[in-house]
Amino acid sequence: MDKRDTLWELFQKKNISRRDFLKTCVALTSLMGLSTELIPQVVEAAEQKPLPPVIWLHGHECTGCDESFIRSQSPLASDLVLNMIALEYMDVLASAAGEPLEHHLEETISKYAGQYLLVFEGAVPTAENGIYCMVGGKPILETLKHAASGALAIIENGSCAAWGGIQAARPNPTNSVAVSEVVRGKPIVKVPGCPPIPEVLTGTIMHFALFGQLPPVDSQGRPKQFFGNRIHDTCYRRPFFDSGMFVENFDDIASKAGWCLYKVGCRGPEAYNSCGNMRWWNGMSYPIQSGAPCVACAANNFWDNDPFYERLPNIPVPNTIANADKIGGILAGVTAAGVVAHGVASYIQHKVHQSKEEKAHGAGQQPEGDRDNE
Ligand code: SF4
Ligand code: SF4
Repeated sequence: MDKRDTLWELFQKKNISRRDFLKTCVALTSLMGLSTELIPQVVEAAEQKPLPPVIWLHGHECTGCDESFIRSQSPLASDLVLNMIALEYMDVLASAAGEPLEHHLEETISKYAGQYLLVFEGAVPTAENGIYCMVGGKPILETLKHAASGALAIIENGSCAAWGGIQAARPNPTNSVAVSEVVRGKPIVKVPGCPPIPEVLTGTIMHFALFGQLPPVDSQGRPKQFFGNRIHDTCYRRPFFDSGMFVENFDDIASKAGWCLYKVGCRGPEAYNSCGNMRWWNGMSYPIQSGAPCVACAANNFWDNDPFYERLPNIPVPNTIANADKIGGILAGVTAAGVVAHGVASYIQHKVHQSKEEKAHGAGQQPEGDRDNE
């Protein structure tokens, strides 16, 4: 592929019709979280803006972010890599290439100085001059600084790159940090998550590819369009929370019925991401739908915010009529305050619900919550 083709030129070379090109532009507008009024601008950018060269580096990490990325459905990761950006360097996709690949990295850095997008995945270990993560015979700390100096913009892909991640968990013997701790003076956007939702990453990359700049960010440097919603407010289990119906143990009937996971540690009330809207694998599922409490994996320091399976001590719930204790108490007809009383109230509520279900549907029928899991 010509490194500097526009998307439209590329489609023409592949004999893809104008209709399909326009459909792609509409899909990209939606993916980037833009208003439909901006479709003409997206079309114009796709016709005129040369596709950007991209350098994708990997630091101290597990490559789980890659596992997530390659399952992007809209656009497909293969389309993004082969048709929408000029991916010049990605070591995990080309590790067998060895030294020629490292030479190509150097060529790209000098040929496209000031033009390329740098995607960085993983934390940056800084202890002992970065010797705890060596790539191509050099500390990744050194390669990052070198590549960042010529980058037009940088994406921190995943919670490791954005915050330091699991590698930075106490006592952090490698002194792992976020990219933004060692690179200054460059436009940087954080796409956290452990791993990030693949379409959040591809949407951010496509925003840069089409408009030549990073998307608007929130106060923590994350794309606003993907990190503006609280998990709790988009959660399909929210009616159970509001009704004081909680899972108490992972193997209880409430767990099987799909009730709220707040009391087994769910961080949804203080986590911001698009999991509830977009989900993973083409909208198939996400942790809460699979029965696991949200651990707020896109939040700074989430890895040390343990124990993960214990209830948050006190959460702000400004959009509900009361906190979980009060709701449980009111519905059970008892006046209760504090954690112990809440546990009793929730148990009573649980039994009341169970009894109603049995009367209404007869024993052995599927509880209401199960329908949410289908
Ligand atoms: S953010 Fe999570 S999934 Fe991604 S590299 Fe770090 S530990 Fe792995
Ligand atoms: S506490 Fe968790 S499971 Fe319960 S409604 Fe909120 S986000 Fe959903």
